[in-house]
This record gives sequence, C-alpha cells and structure tokens, in this order.
Amino acid sequence: MNRCLMGGVLACALAAAIGCSQPTSRPAPARTAAPTPAEAPAPHAPASSALTSSAEAAAAPRGAPPLEARVSYDPRETFAPLTLPQPVNAYRSADGTPGPAYWQNRADYTLRASIDTATHVLAASEVIAYTNNSPSALDCLWIQLDQNIYRDDSRGRFAGGRTPTAFTEGFVLESVEIERQGRTVRADTLVSDTRLQIRLDGALAPHGGKLNVRIRYHYAIPGAFGGRTAHAPSRNGEIYDVAQWYPRMAVFDDLRGWDTLPYIGSEFYLEYGDFDYYVTVPWDMLVAGSGELENPQQVLTAAQRARLAQARGSDRTVLIRTAEEIGAAESRPVTQGTLTWHYRMRNTRDVAFSASRAFIWDAARIQLPEGRRSLAMSFYPVESAGADGWVRTTEYLRDAVQNFSRRWAPYPYPAAVAVAGPVDGMEYPAMVFDGVPDAGKFLFWLTAHEIGHSWFPMMVGFNERRDQWMDEGFNTFIDVYESDDFNGGVFGPKRDSEYSPGGGNPVDEILPLLTNAAAPIMLTRAEQVTETYRHSLDYFKSALGLVLLREQILGTERFDWAFRKFIRDWTSRHPSPSDFFRAMESAAGEDLSWFWREWYFNNWTLDVAVEAATPVDGDWRKGALIGIVNRDPMVMPVVIEVGFADGSRRRITLPAETWIKAARADLKIDATLPVTSVTVDPDHRLPDRDRSNNVWKAAPTP
Ligand SMILES: [Zn+2]
Repeated sequence: MNRCLMGGVLACALAAAIGCSQPTSRPAPARTAAPTPAEAPAPHAPASSALTSSAEAAAAPRGAPPLEARVSYDPRETFAPLTLPQPVNAYRSADGTPGPAYWQNRADYTLRASIDTATHVLAASEVIAYTNNSPSALDCLWIQLDQNIYRDDSRGRFAGGRTPTAFTEGFVLESVEIERQGRTVRADTLVSDTRLQIRLDGALAPHGGKLNVRIRYHYAIPGAFGGRTAHAPSRNGEIYDVAQWYPRMAVFDDLRGWDTLPYIGSEFYLEYGDFDYYVTVPWDMLVAGSGELENPQQVLTAAQRARLAQARGSDRTVLIRTAEEIGAAESRPVTQGTLTWHYRMRNTRDVAFSASRAFIWDAARIQLPEGRRSLAMSFYPVESAGADGWVRTTEYLRDAVQNFSRRWAPYPYPAAVAVAGPVDGMEYPAMVFDGVPDAGKFLFWLTAHEIGHSWFPMMVGFNERRDQWMDEGFNTFIDVYESDDFNGGVFGPKRDSEYSPGGGNPVDEILPLLTNAAAPIMLTRAEQVTETYRHSLDYFKSALGLVLLREQILGTERFDWAFRKFIRDWTSRHPSPSDFFRAMESAAGEDLSWFWREWYFNNWTLDVAVEAATPVDGDWRKGALIGIVNRDPMVMPVVIEVGFADGSRRRITLPAETWIKAARADLKIDATLPVTSVTVDPDHRLPDRDRSNNVWKAAPTP
C-alpha cells in the first residue's frame, strides 16, 4: 500500500531491484480513540463468583438453537501436545536458552573502500578474520555475495516473478586469498549466484581454528533500482546509501551447518564480530557510518568537533553542519583530494554507511540506563529540512532508543544514525536509511521502526532470511509502545501499513487475514510470503501476537520479565523460532502450545459466544448459570461482564483452559439479583470473528 514503508522497503527494495513499480503515495492513517482500560473495575460488583465445569452445570437453556451445534472447535486438537520444529540438545536447552555447549563462529572484518564518484564504483580490500568455534572441522567456507542479486542472471531476478529493468555486474572479485600461519595462498573458489565457496587446502580445525580470508573486489553501486542500497542525486549532490558492500561470511550453525540460502529478496543472517572500516571519498563529502568515528581530527573541522562535543551533552538537537554550510569550503578540513573516514564497531553483525556532500548533520545525546550515553545523529539534504521533516529525526531516534532501552534492553552501540537518501526505510546496525520526503507522523513511525531493528535482528540475531516474522514482528511490537509513549502519545496509537493499516482496532483489522484460506501461516519461509501478505502477516499478525500474549494471556509483569530475559540470553546470538517459544513458556511459566499452534502454526479464528444466563433451579438467589461457547479452533482467555438487575456489573476472566475439555462452558456464579446481560470481551481486546453473539440481554419484563 505504500512504497517501501518500514521493512516494506525490503520486499520493496527487492521489488525495485527487479524492476517492479509500486505506488509512491504515503498513507494518512486515521487516529482512533484509545480503548478503555481492561482493568477498570465494575461498580457495585456483587459478592464472589464461582465457576462450575460443564459436567456439573445445568443443561443448555431453551430457546435459540444451541450454538454448540455449530462449533468447529475440538479441544483435543487445540490443546494437543505440540512438537516444535527445532530440537533440544546440548546447543539449545529445553528452557529456550543457549545450551551448555552452545557455540557460534566469529567473523572480524577490516575493510578499506573508496568510491569513484564519476563511475559510482566502490573498490575495496577486505580481510575477514574467521574463527571456527564449532565442533566440526571445516573443509570449505561459504561467503555471501549479495551484490550479485543485481546481475541479469541472478536467482533473485526470477524469484520475484517480475521483470527487472536495470542490472549490475555484481561483485567483481579481483583476488581471493587464504592466509594461515603467516602463509597466504590463492583460494580455490566457486561462485554460485550470491554465494562464494572457498574449498580449503586442509580443513579449518574445530574449537577455535582461525584463518584470514583476503578479498580484493569492486562493484558498481546500484542506482535507485537498488532498493536496499542505492545512489541517487539530490539538490546539492549525489547521496550514496551503501550496504551489502563487502563479501560477508555465511553463518555456520548447529541448526543447518552452512546456511547457504541465496539472496533472492529476503534479508540477512550474519555472524558477529568487530568491524574496522575505512571509507575514502572526495574531500567535500560527509560519511555517516555504523559505529564510532575514529578520526574526527582528520575529517571534521574544529567547529564541527566542538559542536559534536556540545551535542554529547545536550538533550536538544545541535546542528553539526548547517544548511548554509553545505558547499562552503570552510565546512571541510581540506579543500581538495580525498579524505578517509575511519569507523569502528564492535560486536555487530554488519555495518553500512552513507556518503554525500549534500548533508545537513545534527545530533543529540541519548541517555541510557545506568548513566550510559549514546549519540543520536541525522544526516539529510536541504530538501528534507521542512518544519515537520528531518529536523525532528534526531529527536525521534533519541526517544525511541531511550524507550526501547528502558522497556526491553539497553542499547549497546555508541551512536544511532538516520540518513535521508534514496533508500526509503531500511535498517542496518545502529544505522537506518529513510526517504528524503518523509515527514510528519510517518517519519516518526519510520524512524522508530528502523532503529528498532537494532534490537531485532541486530542485537538478537534472528535469521531474517528464513523468519521474517521474527525481526519485523518483534520490532513492530516494540514500536506499538513507543508510539503510545512518545510525547504523551501525540503520534499514537501506531496505525500504519505495518500495524492496523485501516486505522481501526487491530483485533478487528486482523480478521481478514485470519479468515483468508489462502493466507500463509507465520512459520512460512520468508521468501514464500508474497507482497499481498508480507505486512499483514510478518509485521502485523506477528506483532499483534505479542500484544495478545503480553496484554491478554500472560499480563505485562510476566511477559516483560520473560521477554527481557529472552533478549538478554540471545543478544549477539542466533535464536531459532523454537528457542523463542520455549523461552517464553519457561520464563513466564505457562504452557502456551495452544497459542503457538493457533497463531503461529495456523491462521485459526476465534469466536466466543454467550448463549444465555439462567437462574439455578429457577431462583436467582441460588445463583446464575451462564453458557459460553468457544465456536472456532482458537482459544483465548476471555473477560466476560455480567450485568445485574440493579445496574451493577461484575467482570470475570475465564482462562483458556475453560474450554480444555469441551466447547461449551457453563459458568455458575453467585448472584442475588437477576442477571440482565452478559458481554463477552467488553473492552474489545480479542480478535473475535463474530461479535453479534458476544452479548446476551434478558428479555424485558412486561
Ligand atoms: Zn522492518
């Protein structure tokens, strides 16, 4: 619905890469009123209530045809034991934590790149210091050559079902060498689509064997068709958004050995390590990169260094380079030749950078838990500097990073950088590429979302190429609360193409997906989720699943503790979907197999209906019986509100196990007065397919 919104950019990035055209209009979602709090106490609640099981309860009331006759719910199916797809073993524990023998290989990178701005060619040398911590000797290495997706013979060209309009040669490898014990030899290589295999002359030893891979290469940076990485002109000069810019180690893990899925459109799965990288560009360009700038004395003026120091102590945004200074010789430390920008980033799975002479640059400090600090920075051309445009991005970045740090896990990186350029909505560690025209609440949402990816999958190293629902959905979930929290909720609630795109209640807006027999399930391989379902499934349904788990199933206290623990346990590691499921069950203390089955393994629907309230033995003073039927395969904990003849109301929360034996539950409650109404899900928090059966009202007395 919108071009490249959020990770939308992704498929979109690919879509663009392979030449699709998509509408460029942006959404103008309607704001809806916040729902009433579920916890609001009902006034004048009568005394205690008790539930009786179906077997003990009275027969169904007379009158309307029994709803039970029309149910498709089978408790033996919904509550059946669930086998998770990834096993428990010495590497991955039953409680969803890394096992006692968990291992992970490591890739440390040194990169020296230069950009020829006349030809848009990036040329570089790379050293990958690779450590094999696995228990297996490795006879070969696999390396990812993601620029090869732009070749006219790439698999990605065909996998999208569209016809690309522009190509590059991909990576041109000038030399590939292996260095071991001080000896460097030419590598025996094979290129297959976006993968490079190096067949080793002698296996790399397990449990800590090391070697260096040395590669010299160049490639043409794609134009606007690049999608996730591109260059394009702006009023004051070309902007380069540079990513997937070096051959990257494929992951060798305990789940599959080498994970060699080619790059045909879905995102990335990468090893962790330290990065030291140098980018050489013409003297008048600024380079914004992932990590910490190591040589400000060489690439910044004294005034810029002083302003940066000021920004490090400022909660308000400080301009490091103003619009007026663009093109001014005195805003650069030299006035000819090239400059080399040196960045370093530790313990990360990737780095990206942007370069342009057209950038305005501003910054403000980020205050983190335990007195730690980071720095929010934005780089954007003058055409982005409107009043509700990029002049506010640093403020959004800063707030989002502080919020996610406070709620979930502290931000570990020295800076959080946003760049306005040709890539509109794409994330890299501590670095995001957003669009030049982005503004207003859309810019807020986009900024929060893209920097939110620094938690998922940059810190928690999900396999995005297979499990898009994890990085996109988990990130969208934390964005929901940032939208509620920012400046008292001025941009909340989050309603955009990722989450409740129609602007209404998310539990209603998810229904078309749940009832669509053609829709894929969450555990579908990422590449197979078509654009039709990508946002509704991998972003929206996945995020709403966590909202339901937090707010309706576990409660915030249990969920938040377990979710934070999961993040902590898997930071800089590679959790599988099963690790997540097990972690939440174990840490929150709940067998959630029914929820995983209905929401993640299936697109099941929920329909809870109230039949009637009747007096016990015809006498309300003996209590009331309320018939509740779970009609569809999905179950959830359900709140019901019972209204009495004196106008008082009482709320009862029914656990999912209410329906563990049968579709129908007859609840016996204490009552002294006639029951006049029963409402299922009175706060409208559940994705109930049919709300026409959620309310029962007593017939008016003549
Ligand atoms: Zn995203």
